[in-house]
Amino acid sequence: MPHVITQSCCSDGSCVYACPVNCIHPSPDEPGFATAEMLYIDPVSCVDCGACVSACPVNAIAPQAKLQPEQLPFVALNAAFYPDRPAGEKVPPTSKLAPVIAAPKVDARESDPLTVAIVGSGPAAMYAADELLTQSGVRVNVFERLPTPYGLVRAGVAPDHQNTKRVTRLFDEVSRSSGFTFYLNVEVGLDVSHAELLAHHHAVLYAVGAPHDRRLDVDGMGLPGTGTATEMVAWINGHPEYTDLPVELEHEQVVLVGNGNVALDVARILTTDPDALARTDIADHALAALRQSKITEVVIAARRGPAQSAFTLPELIGLTSACDVVLDATDHALVQADLATAEDPLIRNKLEVLSKLGDASVPATGPQIRLAYRLTPERILGSDRVSGIVFNITGTDRTCHLDAGLVLTSIGYRGKAIRDLPFDDAAAVVPNDGGRVIDPQKGQPVHGTYVAGWIKRGPTGFIGTNKSCARETVQSLVDDYNAGLLHGPRIKPAALQKLVRSRRPDVVSAAGWKAIDEAEIERGGDHRPRDKFTSVADMVAAAATAPEPSFPKRVLAVVRH
Ligand code: NAP
Repeated sequence: MPHVITQSCCSDGSCVYACPVNCIHPSPDEPGFATAEMLYIDPVSCVDCGACVSACPVNAIAPQAKLQPEQLPFVALNAAFYPDRPAGEKVPPTSKLAPVIAAPKVDARESDPLTVAIVGSGPAAMYAADELLTQSGVRVNVFERLPTPYGLVRAGVAPDHQNTKRVTRLFDEVSRSSGFTFYLNVEVGLDVSHAELLAHHHAVLYAVGAPHDRRLDVDGMGLPGTGTATEMVAWINGHPEYTDLPVELEHEQVVLVGNGNVALDVARILTTDPDALARTDIADHALAALRQSKITEVVIAARRGPAQSAFTLPELIGLTSACDVVLDATDHALVQADLATAEDPLIRNKLEVLSKLGDASVPATGPQIRLAYRLTPERILGSDRVSGIVFNITGTDRTCHLDAGLVLTSIGYRGKAIRDLPFDDAAAVVPNDGGRVIDPQKGQPVHGTYVAGWIKRGPTGFIGTNKSCARETVQSLVDDYNAGLLHGPRIKPAALQKLVRSRRPDVVSAAGWKAIDEAEIERGGDHRPRDKFTSVADMVAAAATAPEPSFPKRVLAVVRH
């Protein structure tokens, strides 16, 4: 009975290296890896050893016999990735054993051990720290603006995707490595400058993600009742800067513009039974609002056709198994038209799922999600608050309008300029070459400065995509250190703690994060994984109960003087 990869696949490739028979593809060395929506187990070659199960950080792999009913479509999906073969032929003819990619090798200098500041603590940051700390003697200091780490895993992954959030266990393990120090609740650029970090480290690696969202520039955006799906996700997840977002759910219709995975997440949360959400780590304020919600229909409007849907197939399968998802007759016809011409097997699979969706004309028995196509947003309607949205029917001169009490754009994230670093405003990334920040004026690397994750490559891919992205950056950084191009810190490590403390007396250490984590888990009781703190003050207060001091007493004594 083979194993099967399911919806929460993070694509970090850990399973590929664990598999003794090379039956998981695409592997990180194969061309399709960077763009794959998930990884797939070859059912013919799988020897059912379970090594991949232990390696997977997000619990996405299970033996076929143990799948939940809603996971069964993934059996065919895994198998469909592989070609039909003659009986008895196990390994797909084109594959070779996935090479174990060695961690970047640091030529350690005892008198000048590699010391790196990482700014941000999301997946790209933690995978970069992991890569660096595979080598003994390396020191990594991770700086994070919030008192809690892990970026979008905490504040962006939907609360009903708890398996995906399990990757934090891997990150917790990394943070316990020797040589790792957390400086949480410290904002680089405000509390400490880039130059100060460089003076204390060989290199500064920015993995700050893409914190803004792309804005839709049409009349009416900004009216009460309009907003963005990414802000909504942050509000649902209890991000402390979004707790006061004015979310009103007392209208029946919601329109989401854009049909990526974020739109699917928001539509699913808005239409899921709040009693089910009550078993997740959703923020209390969001759960309370959802319990009062009057929403009956969420329309996810895409400007292009079904074959160009931005959501991934695993997420579509997950959505259709959890919610009532329908298409109207026009869109069913578009799906059939695309099916008649689509050649790409992945797109065909998506279209097949879409073609089986119910008909929007059948009266609904509960909140429903409707996928709508070829709708280009033109303007928002309403005077003191939104009442609807007008779309151009893409490729025509006709328009149509949908009533809506809430219009959320979900058209992607956007990177933000980092103080003291160059920025490519058009692409919204920091210009770089393999992670080395490049000064566009001089066409040369900016000394000791690197990027990884969404601020390096733009807001695409999944959590695990950041593993190979971070590895590439770490390779560049290590090459520069080995070549003697990076200046060692001019100041002793304790001086950094002293500096940070003097600027942020309430800096939160790993022990402080552990105290927050344990307090949230305890607040969650028996039925929830955790009940999150949603204010910085509460987080800092919980961190202050940590039994260990945040930083060595000697340093605190110096600071108090
Ligand atoms: P996305 O996948 O890039 O989707 C953006 C959507 O916005 C597309 O439908 C795009 O349409 C549309 N759009 C862009 N500009 C528009 C405009 N001016 N007017 C109308 N529509 C417009 O973005 P996302 O959903 O924010 O996701 C970001 C990344 O995070 C993706 O890689 C995603 O897979 C990942 N993510 C993954 C998960 C998961 O695995 N569970 C969950 C959330 C996010 P066009 O295609 O026509 O440009």
